Amino acid sequence: MTEITVAAPARRTADGTGPYYQPVGNEVEVFTAAFRSRRAIMLTGPTGCGKTRFVEAMAHQLGVPLHTVSCHEDLSSSDLLGRYLLKAGETVWVDGPLTRAARHGGICYLDEIVEARQDATVVVHSVADHRRELNLERHGAERIVAHSDFCLVVSFNPGYQSVLKDLKVSTRQRMVTVRFGFPPAEAEHEVVVRETGVGPDEAWALVLFAQAVRRLEHGRLREAASTRTVVAAAALTSQGMSTFDAGMAAMVRPMTDDADEEAGLAAMLETYT
Ligand code: ADP
Repeated sequence: MTEITVAAPARRTADGTGPYYQPVGNEVEVFTAAFRSRRAIMLTGPTGCGKTRFVEAMAHQLGVPLHTVSCHEDLSSSDLLGRYLLKAGETVWVDGPLTRAARHGGICYLDEIVEARQDATVVVHSVADHRRELNLERHGAERIVAHSDFCLVVSFNPGYQSVLKDLKVSTRQRMVTVRFGFPPAEAEHEVVVRETGVGPDEAWALVLFAQAVRRLEHGRLREAASTRTVVAAAALTSQGMSTFDAGMAAMVRPMTDDADEEAGLAAMLETYT
């Protein structure tokens, strides 16, 4: 089902200033300028490279609620716009996350938008472009002009879909696009240490292994060694596991079911740990 998070920063920094996000380029500047000029934003890049964390940190920094929707193949326009529900014997209209953000202000983040059904992506068009409006046909044809603090953010992974088949080119053109990749080694090391408290040497071993996997010819493995998996391996290490065992459990095995490939990756990991 639809997963919705409202103004819920996942992690706060020790000083309580908001979710921790390590910038890698000019993404904070681009996002801020796009938000202030009321433009929709598209984040592209592989899974596990920090897109969601970035949006959480930006929502906190800009002081607006965040409505996150993990898109999936059954996600329909009603999941985004809203629907009538039976409450205490009465039928009442309940806004969906997109409507709520448009009505009251806030970021609506549609994670992996190309996974959603066609009818769901179609309703996004009018609010993503210069019109900035939503039409709730099922709610007495209500028309909502988006709040000045409304911002639509979508993400997609170009590795999964070679073309943005479900988004019109005209809509895509109106979206400010930030391209993400895995962070460079220094930045990734910083992330891993800050996220898990693991020692710097252990963090380097796992980061350098991930970076080496990403240099392999095999495209699938390149994407599989994500920052998310490095953080997971480091978290196991900080619980007392060896970096090798942690790397096997949280990085190598989730990457492949193939015994030969696993053995090759294990030998590679061993050289770093
Ligand atoms: P995505 O949305 O791209 O799939 P996430 O935002 O969920 O990826 O990132 C996965 C994990 O990687 C986060 O939970 C966080 O621990 C870590 N991470 C990746 N990049 C960064 C970054 N630049 N700053 C802080 N944490 C990061």
